[in-house]
Amino acid sequence: MTSVAESDLERPDCPLCGPGVAQRLRHSFPPFAAVACVGCGLLFLSPRLVAPRMLERYQGACYFDSEVAGQGYDEYLAVRENWLRTFDARLRVIARHQRAGRVLDVGCGPGFFLEAAQRRGYEAWGLDPSAYAVELARRACGDRVRQGVLETAPFPAGHFDLLTAFDAFEHVYQPLDFVAAAERLLARDGVLVITTPDPTSLLARVSGRRWVSFKIPEHVFYWSPATIRRALAPRFEVLALTGAGQYATAGFLLRRLLGLSAPGPRFLRPPLALLNRVSLYANNGSLTVIARRRSAA
Ligand SMILES: [Zn+2]
Repeated sequence: MTSVAESDLERPDCPLCGPGVAQRLRHSFPPFAAVACVGCGLLFLSPRLVAPRMLERYQGACYFDSEVAGQGYDEYLAVRENWLRTFDARLRVIARHQRAGRVLDVGCGPGFFLEAAQRRGYEAWGLDPSAYAVELARRACGDRVRQGVLETAPFPAGHFDLLTAFDAFEHVYQPLDFVAAAERLLARDGVLVITTPDPTSLLARVSGRRWVSFKIPEHVFYWSPATIRRALAPRFEVLALTGAGQYATAGFLLRRLLGLSAPGPRFLRPPLALLNRVSLYANNGSLTVIARRRSAA
């Protein structure tokens, strides 16, 4: 990142343990750092960018295109196809716990999950802080896609049967507020699904500081199976907690293995273009947790 003013940085407490608990430096990404809470082990960014500055970064096409496209329209189509396959595979698992009803996808991006969910008969709603993403997702779901974040989303209580957040929870600044909002918006027995990078995964442990999910400064929390259980426990009962995978082109996987951002060096583009015709299912170093809203006593 280009220079960051000290006034644009903040040093949060561990949301699970509160103030006064020591933090140990794990990795330095100046001016940011990943620290672990000595109390519970939660890994998070401190210092991190203050929330208003981060919201500015999410606006517009620039942040988003680097996520979704990479190598122009061909790769975009391959990426779209792989995401539809990935989400359909995830929906098969989710259907064991919630097979129908109204779903809200938080951080829906261009709406690939919404498309996959509609194909399976869910009534799909989307939410994303980026105006650009909302515009794309509306092509699939019309005005059931809203701009915003879960914590302040203006939906009635108990409106949804299923709430999904894929690669979104690690961006959330006040995770316990997110969990409380999820509980409020879900119907009785509603199901919450979160997929988020797992710092205890094999991929994370072999990659160290170069772990692809250390996306600085956007990823502010790195949830392990143990810490996400603690975050959910007061309001949700965990039904399943597993590693996550995704379909990706072989070119994307190779690029990631080599630590190259898109589109990669010029000499590698022809072989990458060939490899992009092949899709593989790969464990991606994330975890998926499926949890049910606790019924009120
Ligand atoms: Zn803690």
